[in-house]
Amino acid sequence: MNMVSDIAPVLRTFGLKKSFSGQVAVDGVDIEVGRGDIVGFLGSNGAGKTTVLSMIAGLQFSDAGTIELFGDKDGAAKREIRARVGFLQEKPRIYPEMSARAYLSFFAELYGVARRRDRVEALLSMVKLTEAADRPLGTYSRGMQQRACLARTLLHDPEFLVLDEPTLGLDPVGLAEMRAIFQDLNTRGVTLLFSSHQLAEMEKICDRVILMQSGRIVAAGRPRALLPGGDGAASVSVELFEDASECRSRIAALPGVTRADLDSQGRLALSMTPPVQGELRDLRARVSRLLTSTGFTVLNITSGDASLEELFLQLTTKKNDIKG
Ligand code: ATP
Repeated sequence: MNMVSDIAPVLRTFGLKKSFSGQVAVDGVDIEVGRGDIVGFLGSNGAGKTTVLSMIAGLQFSDAGTIELFGDKDGAAKREIRARVGFLQEKPRIYPEMSARAYLSFFAELYGVARRRDRVEALLSMVKLTEAADRPLGTYSRGMQQRACLARTLLHDPEFLVLDEPTLGLDPVGLAEMRAIFQDLNTRGVTLLFSSHQLAEMEKICDRVILMQSGRIVAAGRPRALLPGGDGAASVSVELFEDASECRSRIAALPGVTRADLDSQGRLALSMTPPVQGELRDLRARVSRLLTSTGFTVLNITSGDASLEELFLQLTTKKNDIKG
C-alpha cells in the first residue's frame, strides 16, 4: 500500500520513457520537485520537455517508468491526487470572443468549482485582469491572454502547477508580471515546475533547474551550484581581435581556465578556477595578461558570475566543447 505523505516531494519520476514511432523522445527520466519549490525545466527544442510535462499532467502515458505525485506511486492514476495538480499547456486554447470573466466562469462551472463567482473574481484580481475582465480575450495582449489561461489553470486551487513555456512570446513587461504572479503563488504555498527558453528569467526565480538534452536529464540543481567550480563560479567574457574560434583550444589550455566556449556573438566565454572567485577585477587582469603574453589582442573583457546561459551552452553545445 502506498503511504501518502505530507513531507514527500510533490513529484518524483523514475525511469520515464516515451517513444514516438520508434523514435525515443524521453529516455529514462528521473526528476524530483520538492514541496514549495520553483523549478525551471530547460532544454533545447525537441529535448523532450513537453513530452515529460504532459506525462506528468496525465495527458500522455509513458512507455515505462513511474510518476509519483505527493508521495503516492499511483498518484498519477488517482483522480483525487490529480485534482491537486494544475497544467498549463504550451499553446492553451482561448475563445477570442469570450471575456476573461465569462471564460473563467464557464470553466469554473465545467469543473464544478465551489463558490464560483468569488473564485473567479479572486483569480481575476490575482492575475491583474479585473479591469479588463469584460473585454473579449481576442483584444488582449499575449501577456494578458497568458494570464487568463493561467487563471483557468488555477480555478481548482492546485498545490502543484506544471507550466509548459508560460513565458513564451512575452515582452519584458509581460515577463515581469508573470514572474510576480509566480512568486505570489509560491508565497501562498504553490509548487511550480515550468519549462522555458528564457534563461535569464529562470535564473531570477528558480530555486532549482533541471536541464534536459536529447531525452535525458543532463544536470539538475541550484543554478549556481551547477556551474563549473560550484557556487559562485566566476566567468570571463573576452572579445578578441583575432578569430576566437581559431584560438579557443590554446586559450582553453591556459592555466586557470577550466572551460572555453564561444557565445553567440563570437566572444569567448571562459570559466575560471575557484581560487580567483570574488576578485573579479584581478581575474580580468589575469586573463588579459595571459592572453596578451600568448600573442592575442584583447578588445574587451568583462567578468561576472557564470550565468545559466553559459551553463546551458556548455551542457547542450557539445560540439563546441574544448574541455570537460
Ligand atoms: P520544444 O522546446 O521545441 O517544445 P520539447 O523539449 O518540449 O521541445 P518535445 O515536444 O517533448 O520537446 O519533443 C521531443 C521529441 O519527441 C521531438 O523529437 C518531437 O518531434 C517528438 N514528439 C513529441 N510529440 C510527438 C508526437 N505526438 N508524435 C511524434 N513525435 C513527437
